[in-house]
Amino acid sequence: MRPFVYQRASDAPSAIQNLATATAANNVLTEASAQPLAGGTTLIDLMKLDVMRPKAVVDINPLAASWSNVSLDDDNLRLGALARMSDVAANPEIQQHYPVIADTLKLAASPQLRNMASLGGNVLQRTRCSYFRDVSYHNCNKRNPGSGCAALEGFNRSHAVLGTSEQCIATYPGDFAQALMALDATVEITGRSGVRKIRFSDLHKRPGESPQAETTLSPGELISAFLIPGPWPRSVYLKVRDRQSYEFALASAAVALDLQDEVMRDARIALGGVAAVPWRAREAEAILKGQKFDDALIDRAADAAFADARPHRHNVFKVALGKRVISRALHQAATMEI
Ligand SMILES: Cc1cc2nc3c(=O)[nH]c(=O)nc-3n(C[C@H](O)[C@H](O)[C@H](O)COP(=O)(O)OP(=O)(O)OC[C@H]3O[C@@H](n4cnc5c(N)ncnc54)[C@H](O)[C@@H]3O)c2cc1C
Ligand code: SF4
Repeated sequence: MRPFVYQRASDAPSAIQNLATATAANNVLTEASAQPLAGGTTLIDLMKLDVMRPKAVVDINPLAASWSNVSLDDDNLRLGALARMSDVAANPEIQQHYPVIADTLKLAASPQLRNMASLGGNVLQRTRCSYFRDVSYHNCNKRNPGSGCAALEGFNRSHAVLGTSEQCIATYPGDFAQALMALDATVEITGRSGVRKIRFSDLHKRPGESPQAETTLSPGELISAFLIPGPWPRSVYLKVRDRQSYEFALASAAVALDLQDEVMRDARIALGGVAAVPWRAREAEAILKGQKFDDALIDRAADAAFADARPHRHNVFKVALGKRVISRALHQAATMEI
């Protein structure tokens, strides 16, 4: 690991000031000169691999007293960005009113990691593309902009089939983000000019021509909280992976239904493991909304979700798998007891 300066922020303004000064005018995340440190389970990992090379690390954990609260008022859930994954997953109110959130957190990583990892760090975790994580490969547009993409002709079994570009086909790896996408969450961002809010769906950028720019956060900005309308008691997360524990998704679906007399008054679907960014399957939702729950309709919705899929040599299977995951998740949500 390269030498770096460790700074422990005493409060939000000092954290933001330290980060903004050090990272000004650098939008290549991998090379950003200062990085916030939460649980460190992504950041320290990537620093040891020499993928991320910050000159300064700003520890934001002292902000936890105000940024780790979980509150549920008037059917709106507020999750502080420094809340730990395990605490939120174990929260009985979240399990009851937002089971899809608890599921995405419970099915991620390992108990030890979930005890360390924060919600803010979770949504900002970086791709598991092995060419990105191994610096002996030069050709990675995300790590070395303009160098090409080793995965295009390489082993791309785990890569994305939706939302990719000619420059990058990496998969967004997280689970929790799918719940936030499905439930129309808002992100609260704290920066030098105060607090601003954006839709969670506007946080991540598709790779396009610039896969190195992954989010719409400006230098020095921190995620302080997530705001989620609800409740969504009829919601589930289904995650299919190579092994049933401690593994990233090959295909997953976060589903939330408002079902009345078998009619889907509202249907939300977000997909993981198959897309370059947290992915909302709006075409599928449009087919389901207002319709009676019916197997043929579910199949049509699943087909629509993958109509624009662009698989590569080793990940063609993700299209069929992704459709089955949507179908199974919808059935699970429709039949769950609430
Ligand atoms: C072996 C392994 C298996 C895993 N499996 C899964 C899995 O199955 N599913 C899954 O979803 N995840 C998985 N993960 C990822 C894990 O959940 C993330 O590493 C973790 O959630 C990141 O949170 P953190 O607090 O440790 O973030 P950190 O490592 O501290 O930070 C991650 C990034 O976010 C930035 N950051 C952190 N907090 C903020 C903030 N509030 N505002 C702005 N920037 C911030 C940091 O600078 C850094 O760039 C796995 C990780 C490992 C190591
Ligand atoms: S898929 Fe993206 S992250 Fe992976 S090698 Fe290609 S450019 Fe790099």
